Amino acid sequence: MTHASTKQPLAPSNQTLKRQILMTIALPYANGPIHLGHLVEAIQADIWCRFQKMMGHEVHFFCADDTHGTPIMINAREKKTTPEELIAKVWSEHTQAYKSFQIDFSHYSSTNSKTNQQMCELFYSQMTAKNAISRKSVQQLYCTNDDMFLPDRFVKGTCPKCGALDQYGDSCDSCGATYAPADMKNAACSLCGTKPTQKSSDHVFFELEPHREFLKTFLERSTAPEVKKKMLEWFEGDLRAWDITRDGPYFGFPIPGEKDKFFYVWVDAPMGYISTSKEYFDSKGLDYKNYWKNEATEIYHFIGKDITYFHTLFWPALLKTADFQTPKSVFVHGRLMINGEKMSKSKGNSVAASTYAKHLKADYLRYYFATKLNSSLDDFDLNFDDFMSRVNSELVGKITNLASRGAQMLMKKNQNRMTTLDSKGLELVRKAQNQYSVITGFFEAREFSKAMNEIRSLAEEANRYFDELAPWKTIETEPDKTHQVLTSTLNLFRILAIYLKPVMPEYSEKVEKLFNEKNYQWSDVNSILENHQLNSFEALITRIEKEKLDLIMSETRSLNEVIKTEKAASLTAPATAGMKDSGTVDIEDFMKIDLRVAEILKAEMIPEAEKLLRLQVNLGPMGTRQIIAGIKAAYDPNTLVGRKVIVVANLKPRKMKFGISEGMVLAAGPGAPQLFVLSPDPGAMPGDPVK
Ligand SMILES: [Zn+2]
Ligand SMILES: [Zn+2]
Repeated sequence: MTHASTKQPLAPSNQTLKRQILMTIALPYANGPIHLGHLVEAIQADIWCRFQKMMGHEVHFFCADDTHGTPIMINAREKKTTPEELIAKVWSEHTQAYKSFQIDFSHYSSTNSKTNQQMCELFYSQMTAKNAISRKSVQQLYCTNDDMFLPDRFVKGTCPKCGALDQYGDSCDSCGATYAPADMKNAACSLCGTKPTQKSSDHVFFELEPHREFLKTFLERSTAPEVKKKMLEWFEGDLRAWDITRDGPYFGFPIPGEKDKFFYVWVDAPMGYISTSKEYFDSKGLDYKNYWKNEATEIYHFIGKDITYFHTLFWPALLKTADFQTPKSVFVHGRLMINGEKMSKSKGNSVAASTYAKHLKADYLRYYFATKLNSSLDDFDLNFDDFMSRVNSELVGKITNLASRGAQMLMKKNQNRMTTLDSKGLELVRKAQNQYSVITGFFEAREFSKAMNEIRSLAEEANRYFDELAPWKTIETEPDKTHQVLTSTLNLFRILAIYLKPVMPEYSEKVEKLFNEKNYQWSDVNSILENHQLNSFEALITRIEKEKLDLIMSETRSLNEVIKTEKAASLTAPATAGMKDSGTVDIEDFMKIDLRVAEILKAEMIPEAEKLLRLQVNLGPMGTRQIIAGIKAAYDPNTLVGRKVIVVANLKPRKMKFGISEGMVLAAGPGAPQLFVLSPDPGAMPGDPVK
């Protein structure tokens, strides 16, 4: 390899300024797939991590699954499995998803680990020793049927403000009001429909008020001005003590010395940052305290704005109480929108990482996110048309084009061997090298979109140079000059590819191979290749095809539809049970419902759906119908064939991923898996009306 030396005083000496960086992203909850919203944060942090590594710093990057809490316990119960099995399955899905986007964690663990439990206990013993906790009796809603305290999200009822039905216990989706579950009308346990009672329980609280001054200083030093401003609103009154207790049954760690009480999931989740790193450092024979109790280590948390409160108030106060170092900065980012809309399952636009990865390369998304990401809290939009056109016109059309056109001509005419640079080409190469400090500054400040603008304008200049000198016209008449132009063009491309390496690791690896080099470091932009032997050109990246994006969206809609239908199916029983409190209906209303006897002709599994069976039913004179029913958890399909059941025959047909469902089978019970299909006594015939 011929690195002609340049006299650029650009790269700082990495050795003298070697920083020790420990960084984390928020732990995804082990109750659903990784979606593109998670990837915004993961990609943002990963770009920064790779950039710091290329600068020669010591960087450790950690994450884990957040595994505790009521939703996971309930989800496991519904799936007839244990929480441990459920989170193990999700862990392998999550790690696979991050891997397919080249997120380069040092270690990815789980909050349900022995190390994490010990960490919680260590923190708790420090809190106790320092008198940082208090006890209070709290009144909570309790379901006597499920024998458990109900978190707000597990209470459903009528909004006390606007009267909207079927709202959660903490807020109304319809009018946006927030309230206590006890204020709702017709409050019911969302698991079984029973009306909750009040029950009191002693809880342990972590006192925040003593940390008032420390937290103000922390916000000043470690958060962006807009974050600080928002958080300071909490300081107007006393800082409220934080309830760190949850009553059993609860999937989590027991609080030492307490009976049937557990740490709230938000206590052990951030501990996961430390315990995950401890597992890693232990495995390397290093002491985690050299990082977490060492001021020389820069600790950074990358988070979304919805969890700022926990990370900038409770977490630093906990760390301080336990004599750990607080983060140097908490980096907060905005939310991802998809085609101008908030991402949600009900909108059918929550794109799973695995759905995207099935059809498109990670590099495209990493490139596009980089063109949008900056250090602000603003939401940003993944617009599919813009995504496709920017990748195709900039990344493929401008940047990659330099390599493909230049290298293919060099291969044909010069056996892949470079010569020297022409003067105009050298001038441009110097210019690209001189952007080093500007681009470095933008990467350091997480102003990736600005860095990408600089890179793109360098690519535009390189394209103008290439088009002006038109080597394809001079290749026969002026072979030596053309050879120089190709050499300059490829040098320009190489510099761009090094600048892009934190953003597109896979792409840059192919570039390294093309240039017959290895493991680009950030300072490699300062070298120039002359009389250097290249490897043969292989395609680096291709255009995004519109069909791929259409496939991603249609698969996403179907997947979200399955989740929605399963949710509706699992909510059918409780919603009906809840009706006992919700007043009366007129006989006319009741008569509108056409209930009929039906005979099940065929019943089959729908492998992609966890709760659904596909039924063919005979309605006598009304013919045969397909019904997709949420009874898979309770019935083996074979046992259903030949049975007579009661169906709602005039339900509006519903289009689903697996076809149209033309009715509903009636079942009783508290909810899956305890579901019991209603049957008529012998004698009733298919199609008979129920009166
Ligand atoms: Zn409301
Ligand atoms: Zn209940």
